Amino acid sequence: MAAALDVPVLGLPRLVDTVIVGNGPSALLLSYILHGHIPHYKGQHFDPVVHGVAASLDDLLEAPEQLAPGSDLLNHLRSSSAYPQGELPVNALIDTLIRPKGDWDADYKSCVEWRYEPRRAVKHLVLGEAASPGGQWAQSDSFGTTKWDVEALSNAEQLQLPGYTFAEHFAKKDRELPDPNGRCRLSRRDVADYYAAYPEAVGIADSQTHPREACAKE
Ligand SMILES: Cc1cc2nc3c(=O)[nH]c(=O)nc-3n(C[C@H](O)[C@H](O)[C@H](O)COP(=O)(O)OP(=O)(O)OC[C@H]3O[C@@H](n4cnc5c(N)ncnc54)[C@H](O)[C@@H]3O)c2cc1C
Repeated sequence: MAAALDVPVLGLPRLVDTVIVGNGPSALLLSYILHGHIPHYKGQHFDPVVHGVAASLDDLLEAPEQLAPGSDLLNHLRSSSAYPQGELPVNALIDTLIRPKGDWDADYKSCVEWRYEPRRAVKHLVLGEAASPGGQWAQSDSFGTTKWDVEALSNAEQLQLPGYTFAEHFAKKDRELPDPNGRCRLSRRDVADYYAAYPEAVGIADSQTHPREACAKE
């Protein structure tokens, strides 16, 4: 959403170009990108079709253009169960670039690297209802029945965001991650705690706020 916001709170940008509604993990990742952290293909994907397209891109933010309906790349990804079949084509591409041989390949090597390119930053605000960054992880569900010690289904390394690992987060708390590579399931409390700490850890806290703290002007 593009908007001009008049933000009366000290420490927040007064005018922004983009507003992100909600402060779940997706919003945190988008904010990381809008701060100028750009994903690039670093090579080595085993599939020549995927490699050929990815290598032709300046960066992976261009990927959606290569994935138009009817494009060779989209047809290729959709034709094989080796590729994730999520709703959004760009997710299938990014997933296979991060984890080329699928979720069960324990020794995978990501084909994506993040580079900090501050000139590409876009002024933005993340408006989150949840008390701390983390979306559903940080909020009570409408029945209040989801307990804090329930385990996530996914491994920690699948839930972590770029620039800050669960292992780094645990180390800050003088704790050891049960598996140093994050191949372990953590409690909702631990995941929520990680997302709450993420903005400070990667330097994007300046854009996070509660809707009450920002009043829309236009
Ligand atoms: C206990 C638990 C365990 C889970 N385990 C897993 C797992 O193992 N693996 C997995 O992949 N997923 C798991 N999930 C689901 C996980 O929470 C979601 O995958 C993830 O949070 C989605 O992130 P998101 O940023 O897309 O959306 P959300 O986390 O849903 O964040 C969206 C946020 O936007 C806010 N919002 C929406 N509309 C507005 C509005 N108009 N104004 C202001 N705010 C708004 C919402 O309140 C919410 O806080 C689990 C969830 C819970 C609660």
